[in-house]
Amino acid sequence: MSANYKAELVGVFGQPIAENPTGVMQEAGFAAAGLNWRYISFEVPPENLGSAMSALSALGMRGINLTIPHKVAVLQYLDDLSPAAKAIGAVNTVCIEEGRKTGENTDGKGFLRGVRKDAGMNPAGKLVTVLGAGGAARAIAAELLMAGVADLLVVNRTPDRGQSMVTDLREATGGPIRFLPWKGTYRVPAGRHLFVNATSIGLYPDVKAAPDIDLSEASPDMLVADAVFNPPETRLLAMARAGGLPTLDGLSMLVYQGVIAFELWTGQTPDEGVMKAALRNSLGVS
Ligand code: NDP
Repeated sequence: MSANYKAELVGVFGQPIAENPTGVMQEAGFAAAGLNWRYISFEVPPENLGSAMSALSALGMRGINLTIPHKVAVLQYLDDLSPAAKAIGAVNTVCIEEGRKTGENTDGKGFLRGVRKDAGMNPAGKLVTVLGAGGAARAIAAELLMAGVADLLVVNRTPDRGQSMVTDLREATGGPIRFLPWKGTYRVPAGRHLFVNATSIGLYPDVKAAPDIDLSEASPDMLVADAVFNPPETRLLAMARAGGLPTLDGLSMLVYQGVIAFELWTGQTPDEGVMKAALRNSLGVS
């Protein structure tokens, strides 16, 4: 067998990028699968995104992740979009095959895989509430609609942002989505199956913050999920657990969005346990 010292390259473009833990998880997955692939984190300011995207082709790279602030701006440099990326209007993963760059969004898909695998819930037919109307909320809501939820209520502080998310996703998916402005304490009514915090409330360093919601009337089996992964134990999840409700942390979404990107790039199924352990280790979570 002749030697092959040329690694396949993927990575992430973002700014800031130094604290992004995705590379640790991907490299652990590549090593466990015996793949000679490397994942490199690049600090790319907005004005350099176009040349960075051209460099991908020049260097023969296999794909790239996009994080803040590039998830929307990257659309102009792509040849194709997946249906989910089109509906969401943002891309976090690009695959390059035969010179063509295809944009996908694995954030919402990662969330859904966690709901199914880690929380054991099938979202089809469920009544769901999503708090927030930013990029994470859009990705999560789009996938929930495509998975056949029966009702998706978006609750957001800024009405214009919430309303335009609902209008866009209704048009893109035809799904049952509606909007409620968030004023004062939001009381979650009985009968809902899944509640998702897709705001940044509770994110480090503001770890003592929790969304102003009241869970006292929620059904006892309502799953409370948080997109915030730093810290994984948010105050919202602690509140939910204190009330006896099942919970799903943001690390689940983070791991599975990476697992799905791995699958798209390599065509192989990674060892999820290895990727999850590497991520938890890098974040200092036991
Ligand atoms: P955006 O900035 O796009 O959206 C932020 C959302 O949070 C908006 O809906 C905003 O409401 C709301 N919000 C922020 N602060 C408050 C507040 N004090 N009161 C009420 N609402 C508030 O962020 P993203 O959607 O990109 O990210 C949201 C969270 O999801 C972050 O914590 C991020 O780390 C996490 N995330 C996790 C991922 C994972 O894999 N686990 C992947 C991607 C994101 P308004 O419109 O009123 O401003």
